[in-house]
Amino acid sequence: MSNDDTKVCPVCGESIKSSAIKCRFCNTDLESFQTDRAADAEKVLFAGHPVAIYSFGQWIVVALTLGLAYLYYWLESLRITYKITTQRIKVERGLLSTETDSVELFTVEHFDLHKPLGMRLLGFCQLRLSSSDASYRTVNIYGIPNLETLADTLRECSLRERTRRRVTSIIQP
Ligand SMILES: [Zn+2]
Repeated sequence: MSNDDTKVCPVCGESIKSSAIKCRFCNTDLESFQTDRAADAEKVLFAGHPVAIYSFGQWIVVALTLGLAYLYYWLESLRITYKITTQRIKVERGLLSTETDSVELFTVEHFDLHKPLGMRLLGFCQLRLSSSDASYRTVNIYGIPNLETLADTLRECSLRERTRRRVTSIIQP
């Protein structure tokens, strides 16, 4: 039971004052407990397909084929599904999700942002991730709006994941 001035400790379940920052029963530092929990939670940063047209060159092809190429680019974009979270990146290929590549952010060693002219003209760029995971060395991500900002977030998440896993492995060898 909790009313306005008490809350339940998330660790030991005892009733404590709602203003408490440390549990008087189990001695848990509640503020850092919440921070750790927030870092543990996997959040989705982007889920969906790349846009059909992400490079200026594609518009030229569309124009040259009187629009026919647009259909091709559109189908191509549907074949790729990204699921980018604060912990990992999944790339699904194939309309009926035939192939899935998944790379853990803590294994990513390099985040390279490329801005070929054709993409830059439309405000897009390409992100190449190099992983230390031998089974999956590079991932290419493109056609996502605000990819530059997303790349910064992923860099931060990667560092945090590394730190968190290192800490965890020390506590639980
Ligand atoms: Zn407690």
